[in-house]
Formats: sequence, C-alpha cells, structure tokens
Amino acid sequence: MRATSTWTSPRREEGFTLIEILIVIFLLSLILAVAVPNYTKSTERAEKAICDNTKKGAEAQLELYLIDHKQDATKIMENGEIVLSKLVDEGYLKEAPQCPSNGKYRVGKGSDGTYQVKCSFHDEVSTH
Ligand SMILES: [Zn+2]
Repeated sequence: MRATSTWTSPRREEGFTLIEILIVIFLLSLILAVAVPNYTKSTERAEKAICDNTKKGAEAQLELYLIDHKQDATKIMENGEIVLSKLVDEGYLKEAPQCPSNGKYRVGKGSDGTYQVKCSFHDEVSTH
C-alpha cells in the first residue's frame, strides 16, 4: 500500500537557495570551531605524554649507567653537563632521546640529589 500525501509541495526550482547554502556553511564552521581546538589540544597532550615517557626512560638508563660506573659521570659529560646522547655510545640507550615537540633535553640535579631530565619545551617554556 502506498502512502499518499494529502498536500502537494510546490514545485521547486533545481539547486539550493542562498539561505540553504548559508545554513550549511554556518553548520560546517560551527563543527570546525569545535573540532579543531579539541584536535590541537589532544595532540599537545599526546606529545607531552610521549615526552614524559622519554624523559623517564632516559632517567632510568642514566641511573643504571651511574650505578654501573660507581656514580662517575665524567665519561658522559661535556662542558660540565651530562649529555644523554653519550648513553647511546655507552650502550645504555638505543637512540638519543628526542622530544616530539622538538624540545631539547638537559640533565640537572633535582632537590633530592638525583639526576632529572628536563625538556626545554615542556618543562621550562610552557606554563600549562
Ligand atoms: Zn618535551
């Protein structure tokens, strides 16, 4: 059985009216306005998480190196600073640790006397 309409719609011209196009453009811009900031925030959070993991791994390997070398870091130092890429030469890291946001890692001593890896992008510059 076919449903029949009791009223017939007026015959329309082909294509869209200006108001229909404007509504579509408005809705698309609304979706973009919501989606783009969420996307950027989530990639920032992901990069920070990767950076934190990389730092923790580098700290753990540095600690191992120092235990193996009786806390003597002179072999992996350059200009008075520990250089993490030298842990690669020593076989403690597969590759030099890198921040996904292109921050530079520096090793410093924390308040508890242990070595801590800091990222120039995530630990020093950023305020969030
Ligand atoms: Zn970083």
